[in-house]
Amino acid sequence: MIPATSFSGRKVALFGLGGSGMATAHALIAGGAEVLAWDDNPESVASASSQGIATGDLREANWAGIAAFVLSPGVPLTHPKPHWSVELARAAGVEIVGDVELFSRERRQKAPTAPFIAITGTNGKSTTTALTAHILKMAGRDTQMGGNIGRAIMTLDPLSSERHYVVECSSYQIDLAPSINPTAGVLLNLTPDHLDRHGTMQHYASIKERLVAGSDTAIIGVDDSFCAQIADRLERAGKEVVRISKRLPLTDGYFARGTDLMEAVHGRYERIGFLEGIGSLRGQHNAQNALAAVAACLKVGLDLGEIQAGLESFPGLAHRMEQVGRRGHVLFVNDSKATNADASAPALSSFQRIYWIAGGLPKEGGIEPLRGFFPRIVKAYLIGEAAPAFAATLGEAVSYEIAGTLEAAVEHAAADAAADDGSEAVVLLSPACASFDQFRNFEMRGEAFRQAVQSIKGVQPVGGTR
Ligand code: ADP
Repeated sequence: MIPATSFSGRKVALFGLGGSGMATAHALIAGGAEVLAWDDNPESVASASSQGIATGDLREANWAGIAAFVLSPGVPLTHPKPHWSVELARAAGVEIVGDVELFSRERRQKAPTAPFIAITGTNGKSTTTALTAHILKMAGRDTQMGGNIGRAIMTLDPLSSERHYVVECSSYQIDLAPSINPTAGVLLNLTPDHLDRHGTMQHYASIKERLVAGSDTAIIGVDDSFCAQIADRLERAGKEVVRISKRLPLTDGYFARGTDLMEAVHGRYERIGFLEGIGSLRGQHNAQNALAAVAACLKVGLDLGEIQAGLESFPGLAHRMEQVGRRGHVLFVNDSKATNADASAPALSSFQRIYWIAGGLPKEGGIEPLRGFFPRIVKAYLIGEAAPAFAATLGEAVSYEIAGTLEAAVEHAAADAAADDGSEAVVLLSPACASFDQFRNFEMRGEAFRQAVQSIKGVQPVGGTR
């Protein structure tokens, strides 16, 4: 745990007693603050009390004596409307912060040179965070990974100058971290997302911008116009900006040319690494993630050999284009995390002969946005409630069957793919749907796929590479 000492001897109000809120309360108490915590859920309040955290309804608190209000990132700060606790803190003129802010203040106090890599973006945060931490660990660096992935930030091991922190930040966490100042801040990409919680795209982008604006070095994916503008703006303001692009040669920065990773210095290019044969990093989107990880690792002093070794041994994250088995020329890929059409696009764009398992609880717009990928789909196996609607969209363009269940879909797709005469046939679960009609969550759906695949005779496990 990282004790949060910035409010030592003072009173702090805290709202939101989920996993990260509870961890933050403990960190504040360990750092000497007097915490008064609350949640709208009585069970969470009871659980906090049983762990020795003082609880009390913040509507009845004396806000005049409170030094700070710590909010959990899941609780609305601005949209659709501020939570009642936020209104109370604002009315009392009490500053509102989150756990990433507490970490940032603690680092400045205790270990300002401890390498801190903070990662955000609309898509690819978890992959880039896991990849960066993996490369650092493989290179023998003392590495802690957390934030919006895995462990809550305040539960990471205590700060020390040699310790590296790789932290995934959601926009909610950045919104509550006004003084975040990572060694390297990564902004991967920006597309409309979570606008229910952020109002306009401009507001959403401005929150994400804060992470890179506060960093010593800003690593920015410039393949979308929002991020490209942010890179230009920060550079004009005198910030050190490192641009990355998954497709365009840059004058300066890092870009992908096919599966090669290139460095550009004043228009001169050099190959500095490659993704060829790395199964866990297939697809253009992963080139963006890998380039960001490479740029961040270079910033904290790794050499190219160490970085390439880390890329090659990266096992990938479960349920995100995860290779779960192979039988002969048939590869089985679990992309259960893809719960809408946009999220399925990267997987569909990464393979050529696809036996596609899709469906579940449909989202607005269905699979219409994926029409451009239909020529890659040899056959679709439709499951769940979305099956009839997806069938209607596929129409004459793609051969399909209504398989109904995931198990039937896997069985039929495996048999059809086995008879494919192409060099690689891919049985891909990338549902473009939520899972709740048939599974508790996307993880359970992915596990069910893995089990169904592994029960097929002759299927071999696939490692991180090839
Ligand atoms: P996040 O943590 O931002 O949700 P993940 O790394 O968990 O992102 O990836 C989730 C899904 O987003 C992946 O399965 C893939 O379909 C897609 N994705 C991953 N990286 C990128 C990227 N750089 N650009 C666009 N889409 C991506």
